[in-house]
Amino acid sequence: MADNHNEGAKFLQSVHQYFDNAARYSRLSSGILSQIKVCNSVYKVSFPVEVDGNIEVFEGIRVQHSHHKLPSKGGIRFSMQVDEDEVKALATLMTFKCAVVDVPFGGAKGGVKINPRTSSVKTLERVTRRYAAELIKKNLIGPGMDVPAPDYGTGSREMAWIADTYQALKYGETNALGCVTGKPVGQGGIRGRAEATGLGVYFGIREMLADSELLKGKNLSGNTMEGKRIIVQGLGNVGYNAAYFCQQDGAIITGIAEREGGIFNNDGIDVAEAFKHRNETGSILNFKNCRNIEDSAELMEMECDILIPAALENQIHKENAPRIKAKIIAEGANGPVTKEAEEILLANGIVLIPDLYLNAGGVTVSYFEWLKNLSNVRFGRMGKRADEASYRRLVNAIETSSGKSMSAQERALLTQGADEVSLV
Ligand code: GLU
Repeated sequence: MADNHNEGAKFLQSVHQYFDNAARYSRLSSGILSQIKVCNSVYKVSFPVEVDGNIEVFEGIRVQHSHHKLPSKGGIRFSMQVDEDEVKALATLMTFKCAVVDVPFGGAKGGVKINPRTSSVKTLERVTRRYAAELIKKNLIGPGMDVPAPDYGTGSREMAWIADTYQALKYGETNALGCVTGKPVGQGGIRGRAEATGLGVYFGIREMLADSELLKGKNLSGNTMEGKRIIVQGLGNVGYNAAYFCQQDGAIITGIAEREGGIFNNDGIDVAEAFKHRNETGSILNFKNCRNIEDSAELMEMECDILIPAALENQIHKENAPRIKAKIIAEGANGPVTKEAEEILLANGIVLIPDLYLNAGGVTVSYFEWLKNLSNVRFGRMGKRADEASYRRLVNAIETSSGKSMSAQERALLTQGADEVSLV
């Protein structure tokens, strides 16, 4: 990515274009719409951390898009690409994502400009703790204020460091564990959170496939996952789990695109094995029986039934959109398709499953983790209720967006899904 700032600006512009388009269908006054559109607060901080005996200065940011419902909620991203506009766009998307699944949070997002792949664990811990301390000392995060979670480049380990820093600085505060979600299960986390976003992507695709009305004329063989050919971009937490669950349900993963390149096998790639191979060798390339695709962008343009962009924003833009051959684009990442690209794809008859709905599984399960922390009970004692509540949210989102009631059979499929999330 040549110019990060430019990419962030383009992303924010695209999110605003989506907003303006949706706003045309609302009856709210232009003043209210402007208030909904803007980010309510932006906090930028620079802090020193010792790295290998030298002092390095890191830049962090936390954006709270909406204070309408508190706490605000959204992940923390560790990447060299982090910039103000990018985080503003991501925070904005969080507000609407929470609204889609009726999770009562405002949207937020944070980030630190750091490369998590080339930084030592020690540096990552120091940076995470210092960044958290900077937010805590300004009272910017807390169980009732703003609750971070994992995002690109962070995971349960970083969330544990944040929770620990919070508890140390706010010693004795009630419900302190609810200051962050996505924690390890043994440290106030909840079972199922790690795979929740990818699992939600799978549920969303499965439900879309079951809607024969929407997919009429798309030349898809059958309305289940069985035999669907899928290309996934990104083998991180979201991409890996989405591909894994689709494969478990009979889909054929023909391509995986990553930063270093991509792999293709028309007969299908074992996702779990490919993931292991990448962890062991440091690259997705040279995986058994697969063709290497040096430029992974090419992979996105290859024939498939479903393309799952599950990495970063702006991946499908007006230049490559005309060359996309997938029949369905399932937005696993936040903002992977620009507004301009969306218009081209729709004109070409491609069906899009939007990020706001498709990747909302993560924040939905975060909500239950937060509730668990606030109520100070183990969900083993109220697991059933959590499952049912989670299931209701998904049904409501599907019914509201499609304007149709779900059949008993469709509901049964979803209940099965809610059980699989295993919130106990
Ligand atoms: N980073 C995730 C997202 O973009 C998680 C948000 C959360 O759990 O708060 O939806």
